[in-house]
Amino acid sequence: MPDPSAETEHAPYGRLPSGGTIRPMTRWGTPVMHHPQQRVETYDESLRELVADMVATMYAADGVGLAACQIGVDLAVFVFDCPDDSDVRTLGVVCNPEVSLPEGKDRQLDEDDEGCLSFPGAFVECARPDFATVTGFGLDGEPVTFSGNGLLARCLQHETDHTKGTVFGDRLSTKLRKKLQKAHDRVTEEYPEGWPA
Ligand code: ZN
Repeated sequence: MPDPSAETEHAPYGRLPSGGTIRPMTRWGTPVMHHPQQRVETYDESLRELVADMVATMYAADGVGLAACQIGVDLAVFVFDCPDDSDVRTLGVVCNPEVSLPEGKDRQLDEDDEGCLSFPGAFVECARPDFATVTGFGLDGEPVTFSGNGLLARCLQHETDHTKGTVFGDRLSTKLRKKLQKAHDRVTEEYPEGWPA
């Protein structure tokens, strides 16, 4: 009998590309992370290779999502493999993402901890809507849509932010930014330059 509490996996547009190379993580403060990324215009083999590297790097770093700028590439694309509130993992690739969030009475903020592989080892609470929908294009240029709650909602917003040049530190109060910096400083030697390659 399958364990009903086991994680299940949802990959509505197919599996993530594999066989990529683990690349060093680009850190906050590097210019490529702080401006809007170039739109994906060509859906070709080199895009697939880039995305395979992003997938390899995300898994090596134990992340749930990764944007191209986090391996130093100025292109509006992210990958994710992230659970929602029911522990269902959703996997996907989104080029040129746009996020839409609930409004009015449907808008509920979730104050859970958030972290970023480009400022590793540090987590602080960051208020975000508890449900998000992202639309964009898959690896072959086909339209894709992903929606979710819990950590998945947070991830879809966080990764789309990266493609716009925003990091979650930009969304924090001065006080929480200081708390985040302190947490990062405490573990900085665990993430040497070149990590996780
Ligand atoms: Zn991030």
